[in-house]
Amino acid sequence: MKIDAVRTHILEHRLDTAFESASMRFDKRQHVLVEVICDDGTVGWGECLGPAGPNAAVVRAYANWLIGMDPLETEKVWAVLYNALRDQGQRGLPVTALSGIDVALWDIKGKHFGVPVSTLLGGRFRESVKAYATGAFKRDGVDRASDNAEEIARHRADGFHAAKIKIGFGFDEDLAVIRAVRDAMGSDMRLMIDGNHGYDTVEAIRVGRAAADYGVDWFEEPVTPEHLSAYKELRSMQPIPVAGGETWHTRWGMREPIETRAVDILQPDLCGCGGFSEMKRIADLAALHNIRLVPHVWGTGVQIAASLQFMAAMIPNPVRLNPVEPIMEFDRTENPFRQAILTAPIEHQAGMVRIPSGPGLGIEIDRAALKEFAPKE
Ligand SMILES: [Mg+2]
Repeated sequence: MKIDAVRTHILEHRLDTAFESASMRFDKRQHVLVEVICDDGTVGWGECLGPAGPNAAVVRAYANWLIGMDPLETEKVWAVLYNALRDQGQRGLPVTALSGIDVALWDIKGKHFGVPVSTLLGGRFRESVKAYATGAFKRDGVDRASDNAEEIARHRADGFHAAKIKIGFGFDEDLAVIRAVRDAMGSDMRLMIDGNHGYDTVEAIRVGRAAADYGVDWFEEPVTPEHLSAYKELRSMQPIPVAGGETWHTRWGMREPIETRAVDILQPDLCGCGGFSEMKRIADLAALHNIRLVPHVWGTGVQIAASLQFMAAMIPNPVRLNPVEPIMEFDRTENPFRQAILTAPIEHQAGMVRIPSGPGLGIEIDRAALKEFAPKE
């Protein structure tokens, strides 16, 4: 079995209402899928986290090495591609692009052997996972506290057990939002806050100390991801567990945050950290140091399916008694192609998501939707 071709598919949708986190403004949604085609007709799908155009360009650059390789040899392909751009790579786009290819190869491998990727990873510990709702960004032209509170009330009515909101816009404004959201969700729903590295250490400590009164599960990316010592300081100087990791890549990038316990909760992104091949190693490393892992998920149904396959195979700790079950990040912001690209959308039922059981990622791609959401210009 040989790889014949690799293609990229950029998807785009201009938003009716722009929204922003502390570090990024979104006036459109854009993601890129990776399609790997084999000489026997088998096709695998992957996705890359991050800017679609640059990711697509790096994926196409990898074709030089990828074409002609055996898609079942996932470790070998990973090593060859990583090595190809290692001297100028090691993190960022060379790894996010490689992630999309690796996910596609595992999809092919699952289809070839007729089993879901979760079986290839070692077995399914669960058939569904609890999802938490991600949303509550700052939207143009509306009062943030009441807008976010209304949104969280909808997630509660939909059956979600937990929701994550965006902060990082200043102490007073953020605290007003946290207060309003906690009021709207009641005391029995879990609340997470995501700073998108919008604070410096002093402000993050102040926010964490004040926000703790409202029962917060974790404080995500309080400061810029380069500053691991600041993450450690945050853990000791304020009471909320600290989370992070969506911008850290590969086992080498994760090693220091894990070994030095820079975070309480590690959030690698399957489509950014190096794909299934690398995510497995990172999860083992995190388990070795007893650090909780909650995958970061921000993409289309391809990434959702891939993350679900990985989560199915996450080894519970402890295995039998009261295990801490993984929870799935479920983006609730506007993105009409997120599920449209799947022939069978992956939706939640009262905050639970079933893990696809078909071969590979367990999904089929709707090619008409790829055309519909291709960039128009
Ligand atoms: Mg985040």
